[in-house]
Amino acid sequence: MIRVNDVIDKISEYHPEADLGIIERAYIYSARVHEGQVRLSGEPYLSHPLEVAGILTDMKLDAISVAAGFLHDVIEDTHAAPEDIEALFGPEVRHIVSGVTKLSSLTFHSSRARQAESLRKMFLAMADDIRVILIKLADRLHNMRTLEFHKPNKRKKIARETLDIYAPIAARLGIYWIKNELEETSFKHLQPDEYTRIQNLVAKSRAEREKYMQTVKDFIQKKMDESNLSCEVLGRNKNYFSIFNKMISQNLPFEEIYDIIAFRIILDSISHCYEALGLIHSMWKPIDHKFKDYVARPKPNMYQSLHTTVIGPYGERMEIQIRTWDMDRVAKSGIAAHWSYKEGQRIDEQVGEKIGWIQDLVENQENFLDPGEFLENVRIDLFQDEVYVFTPRGEIKTLPNGATPVDFAYMIHTEVGNQCTGAKVNGQLVQLSHQLATGDIVEITTTNNHHPSKDWLKFVKTVKARSKIRHWIKTQEKERSISLGREMLEKAFRKERLNFNAYMKTEQMADVGSHFGFKSVEDLMANVGYGKITPLQVVRKIAPKEEPDTSQESIFNKLVGRVTRKKRLKDGVLVKGVDDILIRFGKCCQPVPGDSIIGYITRGYGVTVHRTNCTNALRMNPERQIEVEWNQGAAETYPVKIQIISHDRVGLLADVVGNISKYGANILNASSETRENKMVDSYFTIGVEDTNHLDKILSAVRKVKLVQDVRRVG
Ligand code: MN
Repeated sequence: MIRVNDVIDKISEYHPEADLGIIERAYIYSARVHEGQVRLSGEPYLSHPLEVAGILTDMKLDAISVAAGFLHDVIEDTHAAPEDIEALFGPEVRHIVSGVTKLSSLTFHSSRARQAESLRKMFLAMADDIRVILIKLADRLHNMRTLEFHKPNKRKKIARETLDIYAPIAARLGIYWIKNELEETSFKHLQPDEYTRIQNLVAKSRAEREKYMQTVKDFIQKKMDESNLSCEVLGRNKNYFSIFNKMISQNLPFEEIYDIIAFRIILDSISHCYEALGLIHSMWKPIDHKFKDYVARPKPNMYQSLHTTVIGPYGERMEIQIRTWDMDRVAKSGIAAHWSYKEGQRIDEQVGEKIGWIQDLVENQENFLDPGEFLENVRIDLFQDEVYVFTPRGEIKTLPNGATPVDFAYMIHTEVGNQCTGAKVNGQLVQLSHQLATGDIVEITTTNNHHPSKDWLKFVKTVKARSKIRHWIKTQEKERSISLGREMLEKAFRKERLNFNAYMKTEQMADVGSHFGFKSVEDLMANVGYGKITPLQVVRKIAPKEEPDTSQESIFNKLVGRVTRKKRLKDGVLVKGVDDILIRFGKCCQPVPGDSIIGYITRGYGVTVHRTNCTNALRMNPERQIEVEWNQGAAETYPVKIQIISHDRVGLLADVVGNISKYGANILNASSETRENKMVDSYFTIGVEDTNHLDKILSAVRKVKLVQDVRRVG
């Protein structure tokens, strides 16, 4: 068993200024709170944090990490509280220990291959300090070293999880020695027979292989010496797990796996590396696509090396790595080499940068063969944070940051989304707009015949939820519009003493539909309901009528000329987040662009738009309120009623109308009444573009002779 002094000796070796005090105190505290606890091996529990701290010094981590290593199990397994840790060791140690505890509480319900990548991502995403992950790796490494004390079932489960989750994370972080050891021990426990078989085969061929290794090393060394390249040549046996994988993936017997040995040449400078590569290629033929230049293009985890595979002296494939001593150091410790206590920066100054780098790693892996491709992908994905949550059955779902139970429900199934009425997160009831966090277990309650709400559009984050909710609303709007359109048509037909329902199924009506560009009579009705065409247009197609006799029209209509048919105004207003909704304008206040407006949902009639200061609107139920805005650039005019108070005189109305027309406004309606005191009140409904347009007209009319006052009505 390692002792605390060994840990202290090791850290002072690579980090002479380390705060040894905090390490000693963490050790003493850990010994105290774990006292009496025993490992399955029968050893005192303290042996575990000690070994973990030892592994952290193998990774050459800083004093804070090593102290946190001693304390990594105290919150979970003893009566110690996070506050105690903070009081004794400061906020940084508390943060790391809490992070490790949080990760430990995650149960990886199942590690089916399909889920493994998400689980790894989740794992990395949950730790906001890389040291949390490094400690978790050290913890797992020691647990794997002592795995034989578990029951066989438990052993296999832990080994599987290690192979699926922890070994790939170690590889991703570039800590290959941990990755190798995790793979070997997992393999040993998962397939003991295969492991032993390969172990024996490797042992049997050892003498022969060592001879081969020496021959190749001599060849290389001689070649380098001839060119005055000082170097060290190493040969190493590949691990059993990768030999086994090679046998499986290439379907080869052990005897035919030649590249069990990999060679490494370590030199003083980058230029020597390329020189050495040239010499190797001149001696042995390279296999084209096997050459990788990670010197010019380092791996995301900063790994650098030249990799080549050549046809060796006996016609066998041979893998050779060429690198400098510096690169070798990085290759051995991966991210830990960059987690530097010696760059003189405080750790929290580096956190942002380190975390950014982890996020890069989260998003990709060896699947990017070309580092350039990797960088491009990272740039796109880096800021689209994700959360990872579980279904009650332990399936993992990936959602965008800020996603809600509604997003989750739609991800499960459209019907689950449509009928979702409530949600529980980790067993607690939450609002549907609640933001999910990584690790949450989410449970959705559904009720038959329940429907999505427009309000959901305000908080959903996924495209799927948004489009499904909109689709539902559109379908609803269409149904409403059909029945509204039908009602309007029935009424218009009745006025002409015609029966719409009798016409509805006739070919004549279908022709009218296609005349207006609609596929069916139903479409025609819907569009009457939407307000795209008027019922009168339809009636006129069925029963054409001559223009009405104009002689009966009022003096105003003569002055005004033909009363302009009211245009449909729906395109002038946008309802936030909703398309294609039936819009009406309040007759009480007649909003025009420039007015501040608000919408009210009217059951069956879409949205009615009022001015925000409209007294009718103020009386309406605020729950039906919906935000709307003017659609800039919609070429529309809007009806506004104005009142003109003036003394009666000949030619007054002609002057007023002249002034209105001068500004290009249509007069839609007009009326007047004479009061007793020779005063006249005239009312005009005019079509204006916006409030500016209206103001210009009002001030022009005010200047008309004998006009007392002009104002907007409503
Ligand atoms: Mn532990």
